[in-house]
Amino acid sequence: MEERNRAAFGFAPADIDFVLLTHAHLDHCGRLPLLAKRGFRGEIVSTAATRELARVVMLDAAHLQEEEARRDLRRKPHRRTSSAEPAFETEPLYSVLDALNCLDRFGRVADYGKSMDLAPGVRVTFFDAGHILGSASLYLELQEGDRRQTVAFTGDLGNRGRPLLRSPVVPPASHIAVMETTYGDRRHKPIGPSIDEFFDAIAGAFARGGNVVIPTFALERAQEVLWYLRQGREQGRLPALMQVFLDSPMAISATQIFEHHPECFEPQVARQFGAGRDPFALPGLHFTRDATESMAINRFRSGAVILAGAGMCNGGRVRHHLRQNLWRESCAIVFVGYAARGTLARRIIDGAKSVHIFEEEIRVRASIHTINGFSAHADRDELLDWHTQIRPARTFLVHGEEDVMQAFAALLHDTRVEMPEFGQSCEL
Ligand SMILES: [Zn+2]
Repeated sequence: MEERNRAAFGFAPADIDFVLLTHAHLDHCGRLPLLAKRGFRGEIVSTAATRELARVVMLDAAHLQEEEARRDLRRKPHRRTSSAEPAFETEPLYSVLDALNCLDRFGRVADYGKSMDLAPGVRVTFFDAGHILGSASLYLELQEGDRRQTVAFTGDLGNRGRPLLRSPVVPPASHIAVMETTYGDRRHKPIGPSIDEFFDAIAGAFARGGNVVIPTFALERAQEVLWYLRQGREQGRLPALMQVFLDSPMAISATQIFEHHPECFEPQVARQFGAGRDPFALPGLHFTRDATESMAINRFRSGAVILAGAGMCNGGRVRHHLRQNLWRESCAIVFVGYAARGTLARRIIDGAKSVHIFEEEIRVRASIHTINGFSAHADRDELLDWHTQIRPARTFLVHGEEDVMQAFAALLHDTRVEMPEFGQSCEL
């Protein structure tokens, strides 16, 4: 993957006129600074909230890569002079400066439901995808001579009934659908039992005298978890004295950006903002930006809920907290998001007896919980429902694990399903 990140795009970046950015998750905006670095001079169009969040995400990614490159240099000093070593081992994919230059490429801001002419014969409309703050599905109207084609693109599609965001809005029926299939082979558990499970996991660990570690994605999931924690505390289902740490500089920034965009929320949440009430405020909540503050959390042996990234535990501060708490029977690790194959999160979820963290073998003795109902992605039925409303003649599946994509393709009728290879071009 690291090599593929550095590979050529498969097209000339300078030839691209527009990038339509659906949302600010790293797997969607993470290579934009590289695109700009390699010659893209066109316009990036997104919603206002996506632009603000993408800024934080891209700068954070650039910063991490610079740090990693520096660490690499220290560890392998001979590489500084050796011309035989490939340059990519020590050079960041892009720098903070590249990310800042990329921000200059952001142009017009898209409002949900309002169409925008990009170029003669190319019109786009962004629809609320209900996935994360500012996320969008796209509807493209393309005209060439007397040929007209419409394309509906899911981006990442959210699920209905989430506490903060509105439900996804489906674009108009289109000739072509381009879809994600992250959960195309399964149905989510309903949210009610998931919340019960979540509160029980926390209360259980506290009763045993332990902590709770929640590996959290910085965008959306962290804020949703804060929302539920506040609810649990207000309903008396979680102890009033619990200490909550949001131990992720990016999640802290994202939470502040959320507070700028009440227009994106469920009406009930928007009203709370309107009344001057911060829906994420919670007694005993600590924002820990500094590394030293983060390390000080180790003092808490019980009664702490620690939210830290990365959600899949493949990096970030959560690994320190796992090292402190994973081997303790009294603690609980609560997974609230997607964990891809090959990640540390997935190994723990799949029942590993011990795992490697910072070159140390750590036994897994804490209780492990996977709360599946909090997903930010539509499940199989919601994806199918979206597809039924679009009624496309052709369907491209472009995002998801291959067996899941195959399983989802088998459920589609009256449409030609295509699963393009990486780098393949398709005529519309
Ligand atoms: Zn996403």
